[in-house]
Amino acid sequence: MSARCGGVNPVIVWFRHDVRLDDHPALMAAVATGCPVLCVYILDQTLDHVAARGAAYRWWLQGALASLRAQLQRYGGTLLTLVGDAQDVLPRLVSDVGAVSVFAHHRILEAEQAQDQHLVDGLARRGVGFQLEWGSVLRHPHDILTKERRAYRVYTAFWKVLQAIGAETPLAVPQNITFAPVPDDLLAGKRLDEASLRSVAPDWAAGFRASWRVDLDAGQQALELFLDDLCGAYDASRDYMAEEGTSRLSPYLASGMLSPRRLWDVVMRRGEGSKGAQVFLSELGWREFAQYTLFHTPSLPYENVNQKFHAMPWRNAVQDLKAWQMGQTGVPIVDAAMRQLWHTGWMHNRARMIVGSFLTKHLLMDWREGEAWFRDTLVDYDPASNAMNWQWVAGTGIDAAPFFRIFNPTLQAEKFDSEGVYIRRWVPELGALSGKALREPWNASATVLRSAGVELGRTYPRPIVGLPEGRDRALGALKAL
Ligand SMILES: Cc1cc2nc3c(=O)[nH]c(=O)nc-3n(C[C@H](O)[C@H](O)[C@H](O)COP(=O)(O)OP(=O)(O)OC[C@H]3O[C@@H](n4cnc5c(N)ncnc54)[C@H](O)[C@@H]3O)c2cc1C
Repeated sequence: MSARCGGVNPVIVWFRHDVRLDDHPALMAAVATGCPVLCVYILDQTLDHVAARGAAYRWWLQGALASLRAQLQRYGGTLLTLVGDAQDVLPRLVSDVGAVSVFAHHRILEAEQAQDQHLVDGLARRGVGFQLEWGSVLRHPHDILTKERRAYRVYTAFWKVLQAIGAETPLAVPQNITFAPVPDDLLAGKRLDEASLRSVAPDWAAGFRASWRVDLDAGQQALELFLDDLCGAYDASRDYMAEEGTSRLSPYLASGMLSPRRLWDVVMRRGEGSKGAQVFLSELGWREFAQYTLFHTPSLPYENVNQKFHAMPWRNAVQDLKAWQMGQTGVPIVDAAMRQLWHTGWMHNRARMIVGSFLTKHLLMDWREGEAWFRDTLVDYDPASNAMNWQWVAGTGIDAAPFFRIFNPTLQAEKFDSEGVYIRRWVPELGALSGKALREPWNASATVLRSAGVELGRTYPRPIVGLPEGRDRALGALKAL
C-alpha cells in the first residue's frame, strides 16, 4: 500500500538492523512520498533469545544509535528510540502521530518476519501501509537459485552466481528530507533509556571501550585503512591471529552502520582487482550466504541442518563449558582466543574456528552452547553468520566441514601464531615461555616451566581434556551415530 501524504501526516521509517542513512532503500522510499519523515528505533526484547541479541551487541547498539541520531541531526532531524513489544509500540506510535505509512527493511529471522507480517496485516486493517524493502543483503534471496529453482546448499556454486550478477547498486543518502516534529511527550512511557544499554555493574566493557570507537566516522576510517593498507595483502595476512590483517568491519556490518552493498561497491572500485580484494569480496559472499541460508532454512539457529546429528551424544559438562567460556581450558591458543572475545567483544576468524572445533569436538559439546555464548559476547553478533558458522565448525550444517575434520589447536597455533605473539598477548601468565612450551605447556619440562614462573594447576590450568583423548572421544561418538 503506498502512502498518501495528507498535508502534515508523517510516514515512519523504522530502523532495525540498518542504523545508517547511506544506502537505505526504506528511507529513500519514505522520502519519495513527500511526507514528513519520523525516524524510530524500537528495542524489542520480547522476541525469542536469538532475535533478542546479547549484551555485547547492545553495548555496540548504544553507540550506533547515538551515531545515527547525530547524522540525522545534521540533516535537521532526530531519532526517537523506544522500548517494548513492537507489535504494541509501533501501532501506538502510528496512532499518536497519525502516520499514513511505515517503511522498513526486511528482516530474515523467522520470528522477526512473523512479527512484520502481523504488523503489515494489523496496520492494513487501519488503512496504514507497511512497506518492506531489501536493504541488508547484497541481493534478494530469490535472485540466486538453482535451475530447479531451489536454494544453493554449496557455497562455491552460490558464490559463482553472486560473483557473476554482483550486488545491487547502493543508494545515496536522500536529499531534502523533511522531518516530522517529535513532541517531548510522545510515547513518554516507552522511551528507551539508551545509557542503560551500556551501564552494567560490574563494568565488563572497559576492554570494549579501549578496542572500539562506535561511530560512523570510525567505521569509515576503518574502511579507508583497510582499502589503503590492508586490502592488497588481505589474502596473505587474514589468517594470522596476532596481526591486524582483517578489516574489523564486522560490527559495523552487523548493526547495519555500514551497508554491505556500499562495501561491495567500494572494494570493487578501489580494490583494483587485487587478490586481496577478491578474497575480501568472497568473505562478503560468506556473509551473504549466511543471510541466504537463514532465509531458506529458518531453523538454522536452532537445529542441526544435518538431522543425523540430532542423535549426537553431546556432553552436558557445565564445568568444561565454564572453563571454555572463561579462557581457562589449559590449552593456550583456545584460552587466548576466548579471552580476546571476553575483553574486546570480537575474536579473529581463525580463532573462532579453533575454539569452535575445540568445544564441539575435543569437549564434545553441542554447538548451540557456543552459539549462545558468542551471541552474548560478540559485538558483531549476527544470527545468520553466527549460526551458519557454528554449524559449519560442528559439521552439522550446510556445506559444513565434515565432523571428522578436527582442528589440532596446537598445530593451528604453530601455523597461524608461530611466534606466540597472540598467545602471550592474551595469556600473559605464560609470557616467559616460547615455542612448543608456550603452545603445549603440559609437555614442557619442569625446569622450563619453573624458570618461566609457570606452575600448572596453580598459575595456569592443566588441560581440561587431553588433545588425543578428546579427539578419539569425538570420533568414537561420530562412529556410533
Ligand atoms: C564460530 C563462528 C561464529 C561466527 N559468528 C559471527 C557473527 O556472529 N557475526 C559475524 O559477523 N561473523 C561471524 N563469524 C564470521 C567471521 O569470523 C567474522 O565475520 C570475522 O571474523 C569478522 O572480522 P572482520 O570484519 O575483520 O572480517 P574480514 O576478514 O575483514 O571480513 C569482512 C567481512 O566479511 C564477513 N565475513 C568474513 N568471514 C565470514 C564468515 N565466515 N561468515 C560470514 N561472514 C563473514 C564479515 O561481515 C566481515 O566483517 C563467525 C565465525 C565463526 C567461525
